[in-house]
Amino acid sequence: MAMEDTITFLGTAGARFTVISQVLASGGLWLNLGGTEVLLDPGPGCIVQSTKRKLRAENLSAIIVSHRHLDHSADVNIMVEAMTQGGFNHHGWLFAPADALETEPVIFSYLRSYLEGIEVLQEGKSYSIGNISFTTPIRHIHRVETYGMFFTTSEYTFSYIADTRYFEGLCHSYGGELLIINVVRLEANHPYDHLSIPDAAHIITEVKPKLAILTHFGMTIWRAKPWEVAQRLSQQTGVRVLAAHDGMRFSLSQLKT
Ligand SMILES: [Zn+2]
Repeated sequence: MAMEDTITFLGTAGARFTVISQVLASGGLWLNLGGTEVLLDPGPGCIVQSTKRKLRAENLSAIIVSHRHLDHSADVNIMVEAMTQGGFNHHGWLFAPADALETEPVIFSYLRSYLEGIEVLQEGKSYSIGNISFTTPIRHIHRVETYGMFFTTSEYTFSYIADTRYFEGLCHSYGGELLIINVVRLEANHPYDHLSIPDAAHIITEVKPKLAILTHFGMTIWRAKPWEVAQRLSQQTGVRVLAAHDGMRFSLSQLKT
């Protein structure tokens, strides 16, 4: 029996306050696609959220860090330890932007030798891990070097728009049947380097995926009830929009219906 293609949300918290209060979890996304398992943005608590959900880190082929901010990278060391079984099962790759690896790296030097290798994410490059390939089409506008990803598997294409301020060129860098968007703020938000709900509405309308999933919520969205915000976005954009919730295991077969 073929394994189901899934994306598990090990957390839906974004930016500072939802993360430090753990009002929402912040463990990142666990992809299981065509039998290849990849961990994306292991924020604080990833080790707790993943073990609790019986996800087995030793099955991971790679860990991808979109950028060095704590809510995306805090558990990268312990997850490398878990992926490699404390270094006894030397395997797996780490993908991260150069500025997460150079001065003040997010990964301890003694753990690097447990990995098969480290790949530096760069604008416009393509990478592959087992049955998954992905590109990092454009550098985002965020305080540190940040990339989103466009993923391709034998059956699906989808995008993950990591933290960024909205900018011209963001929309046509991403596509696919599914769009996962990190949306921190409820209102349009000039001074911040994060997307807001009006930005998400614009992106969804431009990209027109079959389905959009919102995640990485700040307090303003959390207080407004993400599921209600998503419902309003669906009506506004004509695209089905879901709000992720902690522990949500999304099956990509839903994209076929
Ligand atoms: Zn960030």
